[in-house]
Amino acid sequence: MSVSLLRESIQYLKGVGPKRADVLAAEGIRTTADLLALYPRRYLDRTNVVRVADIQAPMLAVTVVGTVQRMRFHARRGRGSRFELTVTDGSGAFLTCVWFQRARAMSNLFKEGERIAFHGKVTLFSGRWSMSHPEFDRVDDAGPKLDTGRIIGLYPGHASFDEAGLSSRQVRRILFTWFKEKGAGLEDPLPADLAAEFHLMDGRSARRAIHFPKSREELDAATRRLKFEELFFFQLMMGAIRRRVRREAGPALHADGPLAIQFAERLPFTLTPGQVAALDDIRVDTAHGARMNRLLQGDVGSGKTVVAVIAALMAVDAGYQAAFLAPTEILAEQHFRTLSTWLAPLGLMVGLLTGSTPAAVRRATLDGLAQGSISVVVGTHAVIQEGVAFGALGLCIVDEQHRFGVMQRAALYEKGERPHILLMSATPIPRSLALTVYGDLDVTVIRDRPPGRKDIETRLLWEKRRGELYDLMRSEIAAGRQVYMVYPLVEESDAEELKDIKDAESGYREVSGAFPGVEVALVHGRMKAAEKEAAMQRFVRGEAAILVSTTVIEVGVDVPNASIMVIEHAERFGLSQLHQLRGRIGRGQHAATCVLMCDFKRSEASKTRLQAMVDTNDGFRISEVDLKLRGAGDFFGTRQSGLPAFRLADVAEDTDLVSVTRTAARSLLQDDPGLSRPEHRALRDYFQAFIAPDGLTMSRIG
Ligand code: ADP
Ligand code: MG
Repeated sequence: MSVSLLRESIQYLKGVGPKRADVLAAEGIRTTADLLALYPRRYLDRTNVVRVADIQAPMLAVTVVGTVQRMRFHARRGRGSRFELTVTDGSGAFLTCVWFQRARAMSNLFKEGERIAFHGKVTLFSGRWSMSHPEFDRVDDAGPKLDTGRIIGLYPGHASFDEAGLSSRQVRRILFTWFKEKGAGLEDPLPADLAAEFHLMDGRSARRAIHFPKSREELDAATRRLKFEELFFFQLMMGAIRRRVRREAGPALHADGPLAIQFAERLPFTLTPGQVAALDDIRVDTAHGARMNRLLQGDVGSGKTVVAVIAALMAVDAGYQAAFLAPTEILAEQHFRTLSTWLAPLGLMVGLLTGSTPAAVRRATLDGLAQGSISVVVGTHAVIQEGVAFGALGLCIVDEQHRFGVMQRAALYEKGERPHILLMSATPIPRSLALTVYGDLDVTVIRDRPPGRKDIETRLLWEKRRGELYDLMRSEIAAGRQVYMVYPLVEESDAEELKDIKDAESGYREVSGAFPGVEVALVHGRMKAAEKEAAMQRFVRGEAAILVSTTVIEVGVDVPNASIMVIEHAERFGLSQLHQLRGRIGRGQHAATCVLMCDFKRSEASKTRLQAMVDTNDGFRISEVDLKLRGAGDFFGTRQSGLPAFRLADVAEDTDLVSVTRTAARSLLQDDPGLSRPEHRALRDYFQAFIAPDGLTMSRIG
């Protein structure tokens, strides 16, 4: 049976043994499935290896295979050290490899006479062909095989692998033995008709060929097949979750009840068309006794909170309660204040539950929720999700859900009360990514913003021109406005690479000194919750004109009177994060300025990147630039989002496979919701064993 074969430990495999098994386990490789998915990081063959003698002009991405000849370490005080080695590949010419960073450490990594493949950009440096900071692989056995035209897989070079003698060659041996002895037992998890429809290589051949390709064509076909499989199973999971939630009964909410109507009438503004459309979607989802599972996407400041509150009132009007989950305590407290102000006049009780709620208050709140006297509770994800019993929970709102991944969502759906679910996100994402990460959700996008909002002007300034920043701050503060100043660190750091980086604590002292007579508040993640909240309150009430903080204020904080956002060391932040931070200002009727303080000496690239912030206020455009620069995994912070770390597929690149697999997965679930047909047995076993989150079994979905 295929699944049990894949689950076998690799410890007793020929060529592994206890020591190497430990090393592999430390990298997460314990079972056959893990081993088979330890894909080569790159391949060597004649088509990508260049002879140094043949190099005529600088080249972008090439591989040179040769012997290390001469190594020199230049220690130079002040100007930084340098490590150089010379490689000869028998072509009669030499290549110089140079390292400026971590030069000392690099100089200990090589031995003369070793055969190494160097990968990188070839340039002319001091009249010689050179690669600076190349990637490299030890290729002890690549020589003769290369000449016979084979393609050789090079495996991830973890330092621990090296120490245990686990070279690429050893990894290849282990895999080779496995295929010889057990490979025949591999079953194809994808049904044959699917493979035929999409012209996919069969599963067993692909698993073998990705490690031991006979040709480039075979390698490409194997890669495509395995990418398809990764994406397909992910889409199958998302589709299964979506079907599961949609098929459930949900409480019927009341869209035109007295509370919702009263509230809408009292609002000091009219809803934007985007807000109205979002409420329509929510009404349709919740009116007929089916369960809602919707994501509300809208750029910062698009007014998602009001929509959520009206949705909560639809629940209360129908006799249910609503829960409002926020990712941080600061945000939970802010929502609690907003909701209390809005809902108290309607005679409704709002509760607050966070990690720092005093025990007595917590008990009273829990009682109120169980009895139903509290209509809406606001709190942090962690606190509300663990054991709060509701009288009748009808709607669960999750704010800023980009901190909340697929798996957390799946856990949320399983909660006893089976409420409607409304997720909210201010992180706009490109479509191919949305199809992947939000495959389990219905999505509404608010594209407009409340009227009268001026675009925020964004400026890049470097340290020398800090005076200009302070002048701007002075005049805005004199006009009664407030200022955020965000720092990348909490406190001073001794770490070498953080030596010159400003931190919130010294920033607080510096700013307090530069603005005598101006109240400055300080908020960061290491403060006690009560101190944080007190400082935040001083800023919210306008008592403090300047708020110095770390990124704890990144999401959701709403102080319309603030007109300047200063971000120190902007080069250290991701674009999407900068956009979030910038979204804290421009929320009132005042013109707003975002000032990115940066250190261009460090990198010209960061200047280009930050220019995107100056050029546009459009979160979608920024997210596209960000995705291109960082790649999908990083963009989302894989672990947080629950976007699986696809090993081969890249949702930013493989956009056609993303949409093809989504369609294929949805239609398969349509035809055979329980995956119970005989021809889907292998698919179902594999899905159940390796893909489905705990608690999601196909028979319950079907
Ligand atoms: P976000 O979508 O970023 O969560 P908020 O819900 O915090 O945005 O709304 C931002 C600000 O805009 C709040 O001060 C809110 O009261 C205000 N607002 C929301 N909707 C409107 C509207 N239709 N007209 C004017 N102001 C609005
Ligand atoms: Mg918000």
